[in-house]
Amino acid sequence: MAQITRRNILLAGLALPSIAEAVHANVSTAEGSEKPKRFEEVIGFEVAEAVSGHPIGILPLGSLEFHGPHNPLGTDSIIISGIAERVAARTRALLFPAVTFTQCPAHTSHFQGTISVRPEVMTLYFEDILRNILHLGFRKVFILNGHDGNIGPARGAVARIADEIQDAALLFANWWEFVSSETMKTMGLFHQSNGGHGHGGPLETSAIAAFRPDLIHLSHARDLPEPPELSGGAPYYLQKSKAAEWPGYSGNVSAASAEKGRKLVRISEDAIVKLIENWLSHDEVPGSW
Ligand SMILES: [Zn+2]
Repeated sequence: MAQITRRNILLAGLALPSIAEAVHANVSTAEGSEKPKRFEEVIGFEVAEAVSGHPIGILPLGSLEFHGPHNPLGTDSIIISGIAERVAARTRALLFPAVTFTQCPAHTSHFQGTISVRPEVMTLYFEDILRNILHLGFRKVFILNGHDGNIGPARGAVARIADEIQDAALLFANWWEFVSSETMKTMGLFHQSNGGHGHGGPLETSAIAAFRPDLIHLSHARDLPEPPELSGGAPYYLQKSKAAEWPGYSGNVSAASAEKGRKLVRISEDAIVKLIENWLSHDEVPGSW
């Protein structure tokens, strides 16, 4: 079975194996070349099998937001779609399309290029998406986030849906938090104690370069001083209405490279896969308490 590709199945004609077998065949191919089953490519007659043939659904969350003059507006969406595709292939998850029109914080919303949806609207929007995914038949959904403006609205939606729908479990994680501050230091990149990854800084610029190096234009940005350490390691949340004089990105962007990006993305991908495997192998994991 491991040699069967979807193309071969189609060429073979009518004897279609089950979705689960086809998916298994896909994930058994050489590492790096496997593709997950995408929700938007599920054919109408396949829906029930597509749901029952995958242990979880993965919903990536991105943004359309100014990330400095050197990065694409879809930075978060491109990174999270890239990581989600690999994670979904390795965990046999059904991959949903990334949510791209989302809420952006005050410090980027005034930049040209940012498209921001109000946080209360986003909470309701995420609720509707999650409710519908669970109504398909999934009991477990992994929400893989690429943008800090999604954290509040998405966690609000998760709280509401978990309360509303029985036997559901919703796991939420931010990709950049799987890269330790030690790793960041070793790679010459900064990491803030508040969990921040330096908006539009060397981490995100490197990660974009891992997927779409053609979209990076480093000559348009100069290096900036790193943000000050306020807490000595403890996470905190500070939201300013507008950061005057801030050019919309952070840190030494010249430290960014595609090689670092591939390494960062791989570290995060491996850790996320481990998280999902651990989650799926312990059926009775308690929720937050
Ligand atoms: Zn970002």
